[in-house]
Amino acid sequence: MAIEDDVLVVGGGIAGATAALAALETDPDARVRLVTHRQSTLRHASGLIDVLGYTPAGEGPLADPFDALEALPTGHPYERVGTDAVREALAFFDRVVDGAYEGGHTDRNALVPTYGGTVKPTARYPASTAPGLASDTRETLLVGFETLPDFDAPLAARHLEAAGVPFDARGVTLSFPGIRRDDAKITRYAHLLDRDEVVDADSGERSARDALAASVDTHLEDESRVGFPAILGDDRVETVREELAEALGVDVFEVPMGPPSLPGMRLEGLLYDALEDAGVRLTSGVPVVDYETTAETAGGTTDRIDHVVVDRNGAEVPHRADQYVLATGGLVGKGVDSNRERVYEPIFDCHVSHPADRYDWFVDDVFGDQPYARFGLEVDRDLRPLAADGVPEFSNLSAAGAVLGGYDFAAEKSGSGVSLATGYVAGTRAAEVGGR
Ligand SMILES: Cc1cc2nc3c(=O)[nH]c(=O)nc-3n(C[C@H](O)[C@H](O)[C@H](O)COP(=O)(O)OP(=O)(O)OC[C@H]3O[C@@H](n4cnc5c(N)ncnc54)[C@H](O)[C@@H]3O)c2cc1C
Repeated sequence: MAIEDDVLVVGGGIAGATAALAALETDPDARVRLVTHRQSTLRHASGLIDVLGYTPAGEGPLADPFDALEALPTGHPYERVGTDAVREALAFFDRVVDGAYEGGHTDRNALVPTYGGTVKPTARYPASTAPGLASDTRETLLVGFETLPDFDAPLAARHLEAAGVPFDARGVTLSFPGIRRDDAKITRYAHLLDRDEVVDADSGERSARDALAASVDTHLEDESRVGFPAILGDDRVETVREELAEALGVDVFEVPMGPPSLPGMRLEGLLYDALEDAGVRLTSGVPVVDYETTAETAGGTTDRIDHVVVDRNGAEVPHRADQYVLATGGLVGKGVDSNRERVYEPIFDCHVSHPADRYDWFVDDVFGDQPYARFGLEVDRDLRPLAADGVPEFSNLSAAGAVLGGYDFAAEKSGSGVSLATGYVAGTRAAEVGGR
């Protein structure tokens, strides 16, 4: 017998989690289920919510992404949902994360320093990064660690100055109290500080936070803020930051890092806590592998999905819902896949438009405008995937997030923003049209 729900979301990244939460907010009585397989892209992403940093033509960094949204080409996910929906989705995000992110006071992009010493235009940023914004003129000390070579603080400081930030920046590289191995996982640094474990520091045994503050203090000159790589704890990052700030007498902030990313993991934690609190039914660690349709009644030409099939360790379990949201990610998450002949969407085989000749899928210049970066599903304004003839593939399937085509998230700096906005719209509409 099939498991029955009103809305079934496939994929548990930022798009799917947002869709499930938005569906329940729209209809608190709806039975909403999220089925997800592997870890989402959030574990690799910076945890920043970029709406639009650059136009598709490469103009930017954009001071106000909303000015540019109206001019996006037909088919871009933001053009499909409309500017108001992007605003509503951001307001929804602010409610869900409840103070853990900043940026909601303005439409304008903030400029967040990154671990490479560039500045990134972004719409929402974790509170732990806020004192580090590049629009702030205060002198800055960046602190890196010998065992964490991904963040070269002196180099990042030089890059920031070369980029023209309005402050002096200096970097130092220290040893991290209690960590000697350079293969220690990033979570090890965070756990040490989160639990304030006793460590063996140069000055003898003391708590990790104390020892870290003491070693930074000797390097502090006239700077009034100190930036650390984003390792300042898991659950207690704000406490760690406050204690370091108090001990050093300056503001303390985190610099977002590359994969694996603690701010991304923290955001995932916030979203999954919210899913649990809202009462979303969660089925994780298993993939949706197939589906069955019923012919649409009343002479319609569009099929309706009757149920999807979940593979539970070889057992095929049918899950039936009134509305389905596909949020399985893009080429990175395998929501869109390819072989030598074609690019395809693996569950429903929704149409993915791409050149027939695979040599036209990419250009030789690795930094060039890569066609494959825009591969994904084309959708109508209700976010229903469209077949090659422009007709919706299914009447009760919408798609959200990186599975969509028509945008290049890496070039535009729009990844999480698109997933958030389209997830919000797909979830809201699924609950609105779904009948119980
Ligand atoms: C290295 C990196 C850095 C990035 N940095 C930024 C940044 O700084 N700012 C920004 O805004 N964006 C950034 N992005 C982009 C952004 O993270 C993504 O665009 C966004 O997270 C995609 O979310 P999603 O929910 O659409 O897909 P995903 O996060 O890929 O989630 C899809 C989920 O669906 C699941 N799934 C797939 N197939 C199935 C199936 N058959 N059954 C069940 N579940 C399935 C997957 O396991 C996964 O959990 C970055 C991306 C990468 C890769």
